[in-house]
Amino acid sequence: MTAGSGSGRGVRRKVDDLGRIVIPASMRRVLGIIEGDELEVRLAGDTVSLAKPRTTCTFCDSPDDLSEVLNRPVCWSCVAAVRARGREGR
Ligand SMILES: [Zn+2]
Repeated sequence: MTAGSGSGRGVRRKVDDLGRIVIPASMRRVLGIIEGDELEVRLAGDTVSLAKPRTTCTFCDSPDDLSEVLNRPVCWSCVAAVRARGREGR
């Protein structure tokens, strides 16, 4: 039998009467989660996952070099691509 390091094994936490569980401090530290942060809760099969919502480009999902266009995050290279296309169209 192996000790099963890594995937599969998690920390056990009890759910309280309001359905809350405590995320271990060590995990919060790794992800930089602090009080008041929002987390995305997802259900996949019988697994509930918590993730830090990431802002990514509306078009290509890149998390880098984002700027806002019409209140949506768009990365620099998509902004450049849209601009180039606009110029071609005329
Ligand atoms: Zn993009």
